Amino acid sequence: MSTQQIALITGANKGIGRGAAEQLAALGMTVVIGARDPERGERAAADLRVGGGDAHAVTLDVTDPETIAAAARQITERFGKLDVLINNAGITGSGQVDPSRAFDQVPSTVDLDMVRSVFETNVFGVIAVTNAMLPLLRHSPAPRIVNVASHAASITLLSDPEGPFAGLLPSAAYTPSKSALTALTVQYANEFRKDGILVNAVAPGYVDTDSNDHTGFLTVAEGAAVLVRLATVPADGPTGGFFAADGPVPW
Ligand code: NAP
Repeated sequence: MSTQQIALITGANKGIGRGAAEQLAALGMTVVIGARDPERGERAAADLRVGGGDAHAVTLDVTDPETIAAAARQITERFGKLDVLINNAGITGSGQVDPSRAFDQVPSTVDLDMVRSVFETNVFGVIAVTNAMLPLLRHSPAPRIVNVASHAASITLLSDPEGPFAGLLPSAAYTPSKSALTALTVQYANEFRKDGILVNAVAPGYVDTDSNDHTGFLTVAEGAAVLVRLATVPADGPTGGFFAADGPVPW
């Protein structure tokens, strides 16, 4: 089997996922851009190729089992393995900076269907994609899984009334979905510890992307750096951890 490293990033047609794809391609990896819209995926892959990267697009909606299975089949046929899986695709569930929707995640009045759709993408989608890609990851000599959470996932930080996030509006959807994702990361890490599959969660920081209507203060490249760092940790690197650019994030 080829020694060329293959990385799949979900939701990589834009934002932090695309930034991670660019950086992994610059490191010499073959990157597979997962995108729910085939055209947007192809465009992102073509842009990366123009920049000298080896990039390919697959149609992958993390809430759609058929596209997940088809993506796994395509990667199997084309590459036969996967070295890196970055579960990056995510939604906030609301227009966080739209004042008319600012309170739509407050627990006492939240729309349960919105909570379900956020968990469907941010949590259940990660399980579905990870499990579908697992046979491919097992063909890698050094598989790495990175789950893109958020500082908002930190129950320690969020439960401190004097803490840095005391001003955040209470959320029954996005924030708990990311806490569930970090919890899930630990469970996968524990299951795979004996197999050498390293699984970590990361918090990219507050990054200038569509998801926050470009209010973030970090560039996409700055936010993506921690995804890339955990995607490329050596065999004695961490597993079951939760990291930001400046070090571990409290659970
Ligand atoms: P973004 O620019 O909105 O990008 C999100 C990506 O996820 C897009 O490619 C989007 O595809 C894709 N996506 C959404 N639902 C999907 C689905 N069902 N199947 C496949 N792809 C789907 O947001 P971002 O800021 O880069 O966010 C990337 C990750 O970082 C998310 O998990 C987010 O929660 C996390 N994060 C971001 C920040 C921040 O400050 N930006 C902070 C903490 C954590 P479409 O183009 O088709 O919509």
